[in-house]
Amino acid sequence: MRNCDLFLHESDYPELDASAAVAHLSRAIQFETTSYVDTTRIRYEEFDALHDWLRQTYADVLAAGSCEEIGHSLLITLPGSDAMLRPALLMAHQDVVPVVPGTQERWLHAPFSGDVADGMIWGRGAMDIKQMLVGILEAAHTLLGRGERLKRTLYLAFGEDEETRSTGARAIAQTLKARGVQLEFVLDEGAGDVMDAGDYGAPDALVCPIGIYEKGYADMRLTARSRGGHSSNPFRGTSLGALAKAISQITEHMPPPRLSDAVRQSLVELRPFITEEPMRAWTLDIDAHEAELLDWFSAHESLYHLVRTTAAPTMIRGGSQAGNVMPQDMEAVINFRLCPWDTPESLLAHCKALVGDGVELSYVQKISASTPSRTDRLGYERLKATLERYFDRLRFIPMQNRGATDARNYESICDCVLRFGPFLEEEDISQEGIHGTNERISVRAYLQGIRVLIHLIETTCL
Ligand SMILES: [Zn+2]
Repeated sequence: MRNCDLFLHESDYPELDASAAVAHLSRAIQFETTSYVDTTRIRYEEFDALHDWLRQTYADVLAAGSCEEIGHSLLITLPGSDAMLRPALLMAHQDVVPVVPGTQERWLHAPFSGDVADGMIWGRGAMDIKQMLVGILEAAHTLLGRGERLKRTLYLAFGEDEETRSTGARAIAQTLKARGVQLEFVLDEGAGDVMDAGDYGAPDALVCPIGIYEKGYADMRLTARSRGGHSSNPFRGTSLGALAKAISQITEHMPPPRLSDAVRQSLVELRPFITEEPMRAWTLDIDAHEAELLDWFSAHESLYHLVRTTAAPTMIRGGSQAGNVMPQDMEAVINFRLCPWDTPESLLAHCKALVGDGVELSYVQKISASTPSRTDRLGYERLKATLERYFDRLRFIPMQNRGATDARNYESICDCVLRFGPFLEEEDISQEGIHGTNERISVRAYLQGIRVLIHLIETTCL
């Protein structure tokens, strides 16, 4: 079954102007707000033009509050009447990734055309993530248009460089922090893929994760030194041998796995749908079967990264050019994705103890895991309830987010930072389009997502 067909209550909010919403996303895609690490390549005039267009198109939304430009990022404040309520914040980013050079010919509609054809809105940003940017504004416009006034202050925060440096979201979060703002919840892009729950022992269930944190990222460099020379006398081995041994020591003796709170909560929520043994019996008493559950998760490709920090050896440099010549100094890199309970520092100490003195270890770069959000908060509960209203066949479970987003910038002023794009496009379409070719979103998935956003604002801010 297609994701779109799982959606219930498609007739909610008849006041939503569907054709205007589609035309607005089409127009927003036409601004070439491409992100580059080399900021001299960024066409800031396109961002300025997008801002002018937003101010005109959503004049009614902005008239209900204020709009600040922070660099080329936007912070829209829609003040609520009850100052005792902590504000909510909905996010999206304005920038898009470049069209991969040489792939232009493969786009059925030009990447910045915003064409509406075959039930689809086409172009770079249609799925990542201008549909959320425009969808949030359409949701606010729809609610304000029917005369609603907010009780809870609502911020709309649109960063400028999520795909590269994340400076925009950081600046917005710092601005709010400096004003002493503490947020009730944040909603950003992320997660939202529909998966079958067979590996959980629930083959008839479909799960859809809500991202509540991001794993850490670290590239560790391993350096081994040796003199080289003729390979007929390899007394004490070679640098290549030392690296190989160190890599296998590390990858085979990683820090122990854990059942995180998010995984435990997922198992509790899936329990009524788990029909297969041994998972059914184990999930009836998770604490008593923690060891078995960890083994089970560790043995399944779709689950193992949820319970452990992973290690992927990715690079090696400095090998000898000839079979009878020993290599001299060599380097390898292992890429780690860290769970919140393993810090870069604790991982480095763990690895050093494993490899001993012969191989030097250091980080090329390292980012800690983000702080897992609380799921006993209004934001999580209302988002889940909203999603369950529209997708009653899906089981929504808290999970780590697959990629990094702007959202972690808000963790210092919010303990409920949710990563969930409510536009549940079909997997084949999103896999091809996001950061790839022929990015597009179906009109149906787009309008469904807007309805979710309206409902979420309605149940949290009115
Ligand atoms: Zn994105």
